[in-house]
Amino acid sequence: MAGKIPPVSISTEYERRTATAERGCFVCGKITTTVLHGTDNMDWFYVCPGHLEDRNFCKWLNPPPPEPPKQAAPPPKPPAPKASPPSDGKDSTAAAPAPQPAPTPTPAQGPRRYALHRDFQYLRMQHKKEMAAKKAR
Ligand SMILES: [Zn+2]
Repeated sequence: MAGKIPPVSISTEYERRTATAERGCFVCGKITTTVLHGTDNMDWFYVCPGHLEDRNFCKWLNPPPPEPPKQAAPPPKPPAPKASPPSDGKDSTAAAPAPQPAPTPTPAQGPRRYALHRDFQYLRMQHKKEMAAKKAR
């Protein structure tokens, strides 16, 4: 038994989860229930929602698709020419437009996934190494 520290590798992808207990954010110490959990289950830590929005901390990997542009009102139609002769009912066009269907609800997304900024990835690695070293002692 040489007490060798096993190599530490942690996931580069994290899922956002909500914890039942409050703890301080890994970065700023702000009390939060938001947890980033490594997708390989090797690492997790508390982080405040503010830091999840911080591009210098992490990158949101699966953001929802951008909202489709709102349908612009159709351009006003020019008045139909009244001069056309009345048809004999053989080609009556259904003029009433169908009512707009209700907007489709956004599909339920899985957990938000984030990739840590490399600096914080490094910090987590250091933290894991320290923990592993403590265990090896
Ligand atoms: Zn924070």
